[in-house]
Amino acid sequence: MDYPFPTNQHGHLEIGGIDAVDLAQKYGTPLFVYDVSIIRKNARAFVETFRSLGVKYQVAYASKAFSSVAMLQVANQEGLSLDVVSQGELYTAIQADFPVEKIHMHGNNKSREELEMAVQYGIGCIVVDNFYEIELLKEILQETNRSMEILLRVTPGIEAHTHDYILTGNEDSKFGFDLSNGQAEQAFLLANASPLLHVKGLHCHIGSQIFETDGFIMAVRRLFESLHQWNQVYDYTPEVLNLGGGFGIRYTAEDEPLPLVDYVEALVSEVKQQAESLRLPVPEIWIEPGRSIVGNACVTIYTLGSIKNIPGIRKYVSVDGGMTDNLRPALYQAKYQAVVANKANHDLKEQVSVAGKCCESGDMLIWDIDVPDINHGDLLAVFSTGAYGYSMSNHYNRFPKAAVVFVEDGRDQLVIKRESYKDLTRNDLQYAYNGGVLNEASNN
Ligand SMILES: *Cc1c(COP(=O)(O)O)cnc(C)c1O
Repeated sequence: MDYPFPTNQHGHLEIGGIDAVDLAQKYGTPLFVYDVSIIRKNARAFVETFRSLGVKYQVAYASKAFSSVAMLQVANQEGLSLDVVSQGELYTAIQADFPVEKIHMHGNNKSREELEMAVQYGIGCIVVDNFYEIELLKEILQETNRSMEILLRVTPGIEAHTHDYILTGNEDSKFGFDLSNGQAEQAFLLANASPLLHVKGLHCHIGSQIFETDGFIMAVRRLFESLHQWNQVYDYTPEVLNLGGGFGIRYTAEDEPLPLVDYVEALVSEVKQQAESLRLPVPEIWIEPGRSIVGNACVTIYTLGSIKNIPGIRKYVSVDGGMTDNLRPALYQAKYQAVVANKANHDLKEQVSVAGKCCESGDMLIWDIDVPDINHGDLLAVFSTGAYGYSMSNHYNRFPKAAVVFVEDGRDQLVIKRESYKDLTRNDLQYAYNGGVLNEASNN
């Protein structure tokens, strides 16, 4: 298999120049290990392609894929902009000293508080999703005597070839204004009429884990149809076209992602063609990769525990994590590949199923995987867990959240501490009422 992690002279998996077994010993398991050089490589593939094609661009890292202070520092070092979809993600960006003018805010139900925070910090752009938000934002801008740059999120009616649950660009979607039924135009007129809102252009995001460029190209064409019309009728000239994220990555051998360069080249070429043929200036092109920046940069290391063999049926091998640190198999039937990190050079002997430790039959990480002779105490390293892994992790069964380590150039550093049991109960309060009797329970 073609993963960017070699096997070292001890037969162990190596990540960023460091033995995975040493990392597991030092930090415990489950453990997310990011090879930062891969994050940088992915970011640079996008940035350098745009640069070489001579267009104005922004590559905004979709921080929902994995948001932490250290990660956002790396994104900033690589010259990326940033997408946030909540006050929590914005707060994290502020904690990481991310330049506010390069932050964009998303969300289909932004609260007044979220919008107020965005306005207060003066972030670069709000991607406006619905009519309620236009009114709310105008109110806030009036009260604070400010203005805001916005994009309108539209649904171009394009179906990306991907899993249904992560389809967001079709007409029946909770996100954005529909282009075909006139709501996008109505939103444009409403926003464009306000002196407090500067409509920089349109945004669409047609889905996730997409392996072809044709969906993006169709989306560009569809956006330009409307922009051409608005240009003719309202004399509007768009400055920005934001084409979202969704570029696919390799989880298993079945996945055949395009080089990241190809997506950018296809997008840029289509935008240029459309703009030229419709006699519009070539707009700035923004994209929002999440998964394709961080997904393949991370390995999750688990310790194997119980092994249950049901003769003639299946062998269950359980790890010390599961749907609490990787929800994607349970949520999307997502598939993963893995190796036994301390036996990376051993011959594969049998097929097993890797189970998590949550009290839930659906808590399975990998249904079928070939492994060497295994035993409890072995370390399983699951590949491509960098996106929507830690960020979707949760406290089901009251498992503390795992730790995250960054490795680069042969050095390792903890960037998110493992949660303690004290962390888990930090916000729990004693109940002070006992069937008619008021306890003197103290909550401090
Ligand atoms: C989720 C999302 C992204 C990132 O998607 P990836 O598949 O991780 O690249 C970008 N833009 C928007 C609006 C999104 O919702």
